[in-house]
Amino acid sequence: MQTDFLNDDRNIHPNRLSVDVLIVGSGLAGVLTALALDEHSNRYDVPPPNILLISKGRVTETNSYRAQGGISAALGPNDAPKLHARDTFYAGGKKGLLEAIHALTEKAPSLIRFLETTGIVFDRDRHGNVSLHLEGGHSRRRIVHAGGAETGKKIMQTLIHQVKQRKHTTFWEQALTLKLYAHPARMGALIARLDTPMHDAPSDWRGSAWHESETVPSSPHRPNSSTGSFGQAPSIVQTHPSKSHQIPNGKSLLRPSIWMVSTKVIVLASGGIGGLFPFTTNETLLTGDGFALAAELGTMLSDLDLVQYHPTALLTEERPLILLSEALRGEGARLVTDTGEPFHMTVGDDLAPRHQVTEAIFKTRARGKSVLLDARSIPHFKEHFPALYRILTERGLNPAEDLLPVIPAQHSIMGGIAANLSGETSLPRLFAIGEVACTGVHGINRLASNGLLEAGVMAMQAKDALFPYLQQKDDPKAETIIFVMAQETLSLLTEKEKADLVKPRINWLPDHTLLKIIFQHTAQHLTPLSPSERPIAISSDPPEDNRSSLEEALHTLTSLLAHTPRLSPEWLALKTTVLMLEHRLSRIHRLHPNQSLSCESIDTMHEPLR
Ligand SMILES: Cc1cc2nc3c(=O)[nH]c(=O)nc-3n(C[C@H](O)[C@H](O)[C@H](O)COP(=O)(O)OP(=O)(O)OC[C@H]3O[C@@H](n4cnc5c(N)ncnc54)[C@H](O)[C@@H]3O)c2cc1C
Repeated sequence: MQTDFLNDDRNIHPNRLSVDVLIVGSGLAGVLTALALDEHSNRYDVPPPNILLISKGRVTETNSYRAQGGISAALGPNDAPKLHARDTFYAGGKKGLLEAIHALTEKAPSLIRFLETTGIVFDRDRHGNVSLHLEGGHSRRRIVHAGGAETGKKIMQTLIHQVKQRKHTTFWEQALTLKLYAHPARMGALIARLDTPMHDAPSDWRGSAWHESETVPSSPHRPNSSTGSFGQAPSIVQTHPSKSHQIPNGKSLLRPSIWMVSTKVIVLASGGIGGLFPFTTNETLLTGDGFALAAELGTMLSDLDLVQYHPTALLTEERPLILLSEALRGEGARLVTDTGEPFHMTVGDDLAPRHQVTEAIFKTRARGKSVLLDARSIPHFKEHFPALYRILTERGLNPAEDLLPVIPAQHSIMGGIAANLSGETSLPRLFAIGEVACTGVHGINRLASNGLLEAGVMAMQAKDALFPYLQQKDDPKAETIIFVMAQETLSLLTEKEKADLVKPRINWLPDHTLLKIIFQHTAQHLTPLSPSERPIAISSDPPEDNRSSLEEALHTLTSLLAHTPRLSPEWLALKTTVLMLEHRLSRIHRLHPNQSLSCESIDTMHEPLR
């Protein structure tokens, strides 16, 4: 890997870097792609590619690290990939692509075996076999866990440790991809990396903690112990701001340096969109940047408005919210209203599919009632759910006595960059892997524990599709063109934009004021879909009003985007929000905007797999 300092007379002096593969994202999709490429070259005795792997935040700040439940794979004696495929198809409202679903579920057992070879230890039963668990929507026990409810953390700790040992892989944390460039023989990226220590914070630096000022913190919700009756429902539980970032002293501040990267291929593994929603279970730095970056290159995007909510996140003032998984309801916890009435689902029961429970909770809240999870009947909660018990008690809640206030929260996105299971997109040399990709397997609703599976299987598949590009000779002319394009982008910035670009930021979070505007629109317009593709109602507004307010929202955000500096986290967040709203509007109008495919049309992306 070579670096070179490009002198110019402007106040940004970008560094230049040339690699074989740039991987944007250090969740399961990104890290496993890096490891799989390295393994592949060992096996075929070819020189390993130089890889630059970057993540926007710290290595632990990914959804992969947060994953609790596990990975699904048909490993049991009474199970088969085709049964797993059937469950995936039905959970997705029968809208998924069967061919892709079958390919995914068939590869699941070999993914688990491969992960075991890396040193990951999956939980075992008393006979020494991998223990298989059940989750909502699965007709067989097929969820594998590592460390109980810490599956994501255990997997990622092992894989990150390994990737850091690889000589040819360079890992940058806190590095933001701002823009991509494409040439038939080369790709490129502009990256801002927090790596230069600062001794004095600029006076206008805004690094304060996030405060949800509209919501009033109050005390934990518990029934009156003497009467068993319910008091006034609090809207939120007060917590210690343990995850908030305090303004650090000048010494620990880092200023970004700007990098122009030239590469043979780019793998976007940049995950989801939770940071664009007021209530989310996701890492809040995930603002769907990959969608904005790919759209700018004219790459096909599909169904960006297919957002999944998890019905039961613990209602606190934190971001992200804590997930209260379906496993609690599976063990007997029940949803109740704040006045103690049982909670009525229109269809099914408390364990109905996520979008149905979500809709029922929204309707109850629209009537002015809060919804709570009563887990008091779960025997031995502490032993069954030790990690969750610790999290709840840290927040002053005792699940044996207290009712747990819940709210539906954005959880994942089914749409994304149209790709096949090898990550190939409509643009040669650009790959999309994991949650950022739309392979069509999830239909309109992702089945529990299929998220890690998809990220892992795609990473393992991608190496074969990537390799032909890596064996091509370097093209110095194409590389020069990439650097010239990147330099041009920088030269168009105003002095203020240049100064803003090199200011320190925490986790590259967009400006709070802008985020609040985005939140209003995502919460109102990007609700989950029912199987009839009708957006589920969160209020009593008639659909016609929804359509005109969606058009207004698009107008407002598009104007804001036009006035937002291109090389900023704000631009990436806004651009993605606009794309998502456009896709929702086009669904409503039954038209498709430019660069968009319907889920069915992704079928063409699977050609290379046939
Ligand atoms: C609370 C929670 C629990 C879950 N539990 C499960 C479960 O039990 N089983 C399951 O299968 N799935 C689960 N999921 C879903 C699963 O975690 C995701 O589907 C999966 O982790 C996605 O992996 P990924 O590698 O695509 O993205 P992520 O792991 O989210 O990684 C995204 C990466 O992209 C980087 N990035 C983003 N933008 C940029 C940029 N502009 N520049 C540089 N880097 C960037 C980020 O820094 C990060 O490193 C859960 C999700 C959540 C939130």
